[in-house]
Amino acid sequence: MVKNEHITMLHGAGGTVMHDLVKNYIVKYFGDASNIDVPLKALDDAAVIGDIVLKSDSHAVKPVFFPGGDIGRLAVSGTVNDIAVLGAEPYALTCGFVLEEGLAIADFEKILASMQQTCKEAGVSIITGDTKVVERGSLGGCVVNVSGVGRRTAALEKNLQVVRQFRNDFKERWILDSNLKAGDKILVSGTIGDHGLAVLSAQEGLSFGSEIISDVKPLNHLVQRLLGEAGGIVAMKDPTRGGVADALNEFSEKSKVGILVYENKIPVREDVRAACEMLGLDPLEVGNEGKLLIGVVKEKAEEVLELLRTTEEGREAEIIGEATAEFSGVAMQTVVGGKRIIARPVGDPVPRIC
Ligand code: MG
Repeated sequence: MVKNEHITMLHGAGGTVMHDLVKNYIVKYFGDASNIDVPLKALDDAAVIGDIVLKSDSHAVKPVFFPGGDIGRLAVSGTVNDIAVLGAEPYALTCGFVLEEGLAIADFEKILASMQQTCKEAGVSIITGDTKVVERGSLGGCVVNVSGVGRRTAALEKNLQVVRQFRNDFKERWILDSNLKAGDKILVSGTIGDHGLAVLSAQEGLSFGSEIISDVKPLNHLVQRLLGEAGGIVAMKDPTRGGVADALNEFSEKSKVGILVYENKIPVREDVRAACEMLGLDPLEVGNEGKLLIGVVKEKAEEVLELLRTTEEGREAEIIGEATAEFSGVAMQTVVGGKRIIARPVGDPVPRIC
């Protein structure tokens, strides 16, 4: 691969190029912290110190308003969901704004109101923050950083007890990318690719016949229900930049298991599928902001699926595959009968989706 001398858009696109930047530079300088339960170098959705989960996430979506959401809703949901997928309940957030000269105050207030509304849905508060302004340029309005903390819950403890009923050597205290074992089932909570296509339509002024709306949403209440009412969940991710393809590869690499998924089980909206075909995109590589990819012990997979389907966010949930010891990496059984490798994407095909 050509060695990059400068940062390119692909460095922010959630695939192999971004992972290499994080591993070769950021982890190189900050990866040696000790006494951290889930450290930076684990590259999970968030870090853990004792019983506290900590996460920081910057958002630079372009444009700042898109069908179904805006940068404020995205920033709150992104951080809430990264804390939630470790099994924790987020409770306090911070917020840092970098505003571009020329941003309409009315737009800034719309973003703030949207953040307030999303915080209300998630049951969290923004309690400190910072504001900076930069000269008119290419920022596209503003950049928003939201950081947050989360804590352990009774639902997480109950979930871990259920896991131990089926796997008595299970020692982990959190839901981690590295916890999958051969035999575990993989679920997705709903249709994939909606967010990336919604942002792309706003970026390019494209119309796909029907309006594709972003799925951006805080998922912490849903996660706590799944943990407390069903249980058996070992691994979980929100498949954002790089989509389900990237998230499955994270699971496979960190858990050192193969993953087989079934193309006919992966839920994709008809209009998203048609738009992807037209644009030459793979829905598996397009980002989501309101979906969960869940690894569950096989004995509890049907129960988690049934519970998901009773919820608004999980109506179209499916068991899409399983972890396997038969091969390494990620493969898909296609509808025509063959198998194809699902490689980690180089980067999300849609730039600046979050
Ligand atoms: Mg994440």
